[in-house]
Amino acid sequence: MKDPDLHLIHTYNRSITFVRGEEVYLYDNTGKKYLDLGAGIAVSALGYSNEEFKQGLKDQIDQLIHVSNLYYTEPVIKASELLAKGSGMDRVFFTNSGAEAIEGALKLARKYAYLKNKDSKGEIIAMNHSFHGRTMGAVSVTGTEHYREPFEPLIGGVSFAEYNDLVSVEKLITKDTCAIILETVQGEGGIYPASEEFIKGIREICDKNDIAMILDEIQCGMGRTGTLFAFEQYGIKPDILTSAKALGCGVPVGAFAATEKFAAAMYPGDHGTTYGGNPLAAQAVCKVFEIFEKEQILAHVAEVAPYLYKKLKQLAEKYPSFISDVRGKGLLVGLEVTCGNSEIVKRAMEKGLVLLTAGADVVRMAPPLVIQKEQIDAGLAILDEVFLERSMAVKV
Ligand SMILES: *Cc1c(COP(=O)(O)O)cnc(C)c1O
Repeated sequence: MKDPDLHLIHTYNRSITFVRGEEVYLYDNTGKKYLDLGAGIAVSALGYSNEEFKQGLKDQIDQLIHVSNLYYTEPVIKASELLAKGSGMDRVFFTNSGAEAIEGALKLARKYAYLKNKDSKGEIIAMNHSFHGRTMGAVSVTGTEHYREPFEPLIGGVSFAEYNDLVSVEKLITKDTCAIILETVQGEGGIYPASEEFIKGIREICDKNDIAMILDEIQCGMGRTGTLFAFEQYGIKPDILTSAKALGCGVPVGAFAATEKFAAAMYPGDHGTTYGGNPLAAQAVCKVFEIFEKEQILAHVAEVAPYLYKKLKQLAEKYPSFISDVRGKGLLVGLEVTCGNSEIVKRAMEKGLVLLTAGADVVRMAPPLVIQKEQIDAGLAILDEVFLERSMAVKV
């Protein structure tokens, strides 16, 4: 067989070729079936068989795929209204990816500071172990040294605080700080939800200094934690919000949204994108919102997530020497393991279960939000088998 990596820049270590999806299952090119608890990295919230979603996209393809942002289209007007209303933000800018949403959020925060003081240095406080994407701006605020170092010099004026440690943030505030950026639940860094005290404290610091609180909900937003956005559970609102991943359920689309106060800092010509939020992408967003409402996705997450935790806690009790923690929010869950997270994910894959890793020692689950309890049972039975084999290997 030809080397599939022959003409691909080798940035991923891949082994499986998927060809088809159905409900919460994927099929590879040998016909093998997998239960998917990764959802294309928290993207495919509706699974793979939502006919209304697919028909909506097909209809849009027939009608109009693209015209550029020099013109209005009906889908983008509707999508902006749905996302603004759903998030409590006032205005939205659609992008093609999560990283681009971060770029826009950072530019908006800097523009707001610039309008107040043209000499502002536009400093940004970000968090250790954060992940915000791979473009130059997004990687500049990503709290993992090895993602940044080879690409320096990055954008200047970024410093890193400890997540869930308010004092470490306060220490970094200067007269030139223009934004604090954080995930409401750290995803790639190892599934760490923010404490209520931390989020509320950041809100206060931003209010006091008139700087932007940017919440990155690219992974934890769009229903994943049981509310449309995770910040709703903390009784606060950010100034700028980023979304992507499940926003288009597989159609590449992201967004940054802001309150009027911050959004008003962007003027025509300040920012742009050729096809961000084009009719096809915007239609995907509209359909996702419609279907979330119609199929009561949030209520479903609120119902199945506690079940998943209960089952995972039982698994952790069964294998205390392998599983050191179970944490997360809603259907974004991390299993901290002491026996190699990549090895667990690899073994599960061989047995037909798709999982993800996060951080150095976490097995991550971010299943389609439509997953049923029986499917959770089936997935955890496979995971149990993987740990059982591990424990036997240790004894021998
Ligand atoms: C995935 C992710 C990003 C980057 O999104 P891309 O679409 O890959 O550019 C940014 N922030 C968080 C929290 C993410 O999980």
